[in-house]
Amino acid sequence: MFDAAAVKRDFPILNQGGAPPLTFLDSAASSQKPQAVIDALVNYYTTINSNVHRGVYKLAVAADHAYDGTREHVARFINATSPDEIVFTRGTTEAINLVAATWGRTNLREGDLVVSTVMEHHSCFVPWQMIALEVGARIEAVRITESGELDQDHYRELLSQNPKVVAFTQVSNVLGTINPVKEMTAQAHAAGAVVCIDAAQSVPHMAVDVQDLDVDFLAFSAHKMLGPMGIGVLYGKRSVLESMPPYQGGGSMIRKVTLEKTTWADIPSRFEAGTPSVGDVVGLGAAIDYLQDLGYADIARHEHELAAAAIIRLSAIPGVTVYGPPADVARAGVVSFVVDGVHPHDVAALLDERGVAVRAGHHCAQPLMKALGVTATTRASFYVYNTIDDVDRLIEGVEYAQRVFA
Ligand code: PLP
Repeated sequence: MFDAAAVKRDFPILNQGGAPPLTFLDSAASSQKPQAVIDALVNYYTTINSNVHRGVYKLAVAADHAYDGTREHVARFINATSPDEIVFTRGTTEAINLVAATWGRTNLREGDLVVSTVMEHHSCFVPWQMIALEVGARIEAVRITESGELDQDHYRELLSQNPKVVAFTQVSNVLGTINPVKEMTAQAHAAGAVVCIDAAQSVPHMAVDVQDLDVDFLAFSAHKMLGPMGIGVLYGKRSVLESMPPYQGGGSMIRKVTLEKTTWADIPSRFEAGTPSVGDVVGLGAAIDYLQDLGYADIARHEHELAAAAIIRLSAIPGVTVYGPPADVARAGVVSFVVDGVHPHDVAALLDERGVAVRAGHHCAQPLMKALGVTATTRASFYVYNTIDDVDRLIEGVEYAQRVFA
C-alpha cells in the first residue's frame, strides 16, 4: 500500500503545524519539495558550487560531474538514447519556445499548417501561434469531446492536410485527460509531421519513455515534480536537434568566434548559452531519485484513487459540475469544477479560510475555457503527499462555500 502519510512527513512545508493545517491541493501549479531535494540544493551550495565547463580546479570539476551526471540521469529517466538529447532549460515554457523559435523558424513557411489542440496550456500554444504569425503559417486546434478527450476524428481530418508540426500536451492541466501520445505520434509521423509534446503534467506523475512514444521533442519542468523552480528539460531526437540553429547566443554555445563569423557547439551545448542553473539541475536529479524510489506505478494508482474519490463526491453535490474524463477511466489527479452561483475565485478563497489551497482561474488555458463555456474553474490537484483526508477537507470546504452563498 502506498503510504502517503509517511511521504508527507518528508515535506517540511506540509508539517509546519498551525491552524487550520495546510491541505495542499495545487501541485499541478507547483509541487512541494521533499527534504531530500532541499538537502541536495544545500549540499551543492555548501560543498561544490562553481561555474561549469570552464574551470580546471577541483570544485569546478565536481560541479561539472554533478551537472553532466544529472544530464545522464535524466536521459536514463525518460529513456533517451543519449545525454546529448537532453537540453536544460528554465522549464517547459522555455523549452517549447526554443523549439518554436529554432525548429519552427527554420522549417515553417507561408501556408504551412501547425496542429495543436484546444486543451493546451498557453505555453504549448502561444509560442507556435507566434511563429506561425511570423512566417504566415496556419495554426489549427483539435477540438475536444463532451468527456474532455481529444476528438480523434478531427485530429485525423487535420492530419490529412499534412501539417509540418503537431504540438500537444500529454496530460491536460485542467481536465486531467491523458492523451494517447504514442498513437497520435505514429499518425502524425505518417502524415509527415514533427511531434512536440508538453509533458509538464505527465512526467511528474507517470513513467515516460521517449523512445517508446517516438516523439521528436518533449518538455517538462522540475518544479512540478518535487524539484526546484527555474529548471526544466527539453528532450529532442538527436537528428532533429542537430539540424537546428542555436536559440540564444553567448558563452558555451559556440565552437569558434571571430569578428566575422561564429560557428556552433555540438548538441546539447548549442542550446545552453550562458551559465546554467547548476544547483537546480542537481536538485532535479534528487527529485528524480525520490520519485523513482516511490515508484511510478504506485504514484499513479494513489493519485487516481484520490482523484476518483474527489470526482465522485463532488459530482454528488447538487450544483457542482466536474469537468474532464469520469472517475473510472485512466486519468490524472487534476479535478476542475464549478459551483453554481459561486465564482471559482470565491470558492478558492473560502477553501483557503479552511487551510485548503486550490487554484482558481483560467489555468493558462483560455481556449479550453471557451470550449467548456466557462470563464474559470476551481482546480484541485493531487500528488504523492495527499491523503484521503485531503479529499474530505476539499468536500467540506465546497459545501461550506455553498452555505456561505446560499
Ligand atoms: N504545460 C502545462 C500542461 C502546464 O500545466 C504548465 C504549467 O502549469 C506549463 C506547460 C508551463 O510550465 P512552466 O511554467 O513550468 O514552464
